[in-house]
Amino acid sequence: MIDPHCMIEGCANQGYAPAGTGTVCKDHFTDFVKWRRKKGGKNMFRQYSGMTMPERDSIVEAWYKTLALPH
Ligand SMILES: [Zn+2]
Repeated sequence: MIDPHCMIEGCANQGYAPAGTGTVCKDHFTDFVKWRRKKGGKNMFRQYSGMTMPERDSIVEAWYKTLALPH
């Protein structure tokens, strides 16, 4: 079940894919995937896919924090 709206604060885009128990838009999902690749490579992908949705929330939260950083 996917939420119709992106869970990122201030984002008005449509929901596209699940991120933990939440839903993010296509743009944010792409960013999330890139961040995971940069952070942990293949191991991170394997680790993430083996997690339950609530467990994934901790990964999503770590990524979410990087969004708040000034670019
Ligand atoms: Zn978004």
